[in-house]
Amino acid sequence: MKQDKVALLETLYPSWGQQFVIDEVLFEHQTEHQHLVIFKNAQWGTVMALDGIIQTTEKDEFVYHEMMTHVPILAHGSVRKVLIIGGGDGGILREVLRHTEVESVTQVEIDQQVIDMCQRYLPNHSAGAFDHPKAQIVISDGVDFVAECNEKFDLIISDSTDPIGPGESLFTTPFYQGVADCLNKDGIFVAQNGVSFMQLDEVQTTAKRLQPYFADVGFYSAAVPTYVGGIMTFAWASHNTDIRSQSIDLIAERFEQAAINTRYYNPGIHTACFALPQYVQEAIQSS
Ligand code: SAM
Repeated sequence: MKQDKVALLETLYPSWGQQFVIDEVLFEHQTEHQHLVIFKNAQWGTVMALDGIIQTTEKDEFVYHEMMTHVPILAHGSVRKVLIIGGGDGGILREVLRHTEVESVTQVEIDQQVIDMCQRYLPNHSAGAFDHPKAQIVISDGVDFVAECNEKFDLIISDSTDPIGPGESLFTTPFYQGVADCLNKDGIFVAQNGVSFMQLDEVQTTAKRLQPYFADVGFYSAAVPTYVGGIMTFAWASHNTDIRSQSIDLIAERFEQAAINTRYYNPGIHTACFALPQYVQEAIQSS
């Protein structure tokens, strides 16, 4: 690296990590909840990090945002009411709203500044979704929202930071209990659950904490380049034990009806993503 360039060294793992050369800082501030920086990088475009951990980049955000939305929506088949926890960059909200049968999306984000700065410096992530008439934005801690919520949802997506700082509460039993109470009988809960090769304990803990409240608990995965260390796992929980294993023909039919263009998700990826490496399966079984 040329000596005059500054780099962001990701601090997720104490003895190993990735670095991003910072070509231009667009915004940097210690918000009420976390350190927020948005910067330009020649390889990844505009990048956002919270508390030194990469959250999203212009170049690879589509992988994560497509997999956290189209997998549960097309597995369910008739999602009308959605709750998003976190997701301040707006990518999840954008992808959910591409499904025209969705009637309302409530997004509960703890940090207004993340929304504001991502709208300004990462405008293609939300692509106007925060102003969509079907979207309602609530600034609150997600664990408090589900504890006090009397509504029921067909899909709840937890697009949180890692379980460090404000995101920690979104990996706890009280949060999962609240989610279980806010889901309709065929509802689905999905959550970002870390890179399993590096954070296998997170998968085990989540499995153990979800199992008492849901009839079906599982995981699926995708390789997100800037979530370093291998496949990213997504937690899945539902009161319905059938909808996680839909046939590829049914998913293909629904994908065609949805008439959405994707860059990562497709029916083959949908059915394959639930296949997990042996070490992950064994960790879940031993949880
Ligand atoms: N895709 C990223 C990942 O997998 O790490 C997450 C992206 S998104 C930027 C994470 C969001 O969760 C941030 O906007 C952060 O402010 C929000 N967040 C963290 N803790 C929260 C909480 N307890 N309640 C609601 N939102 C929270």
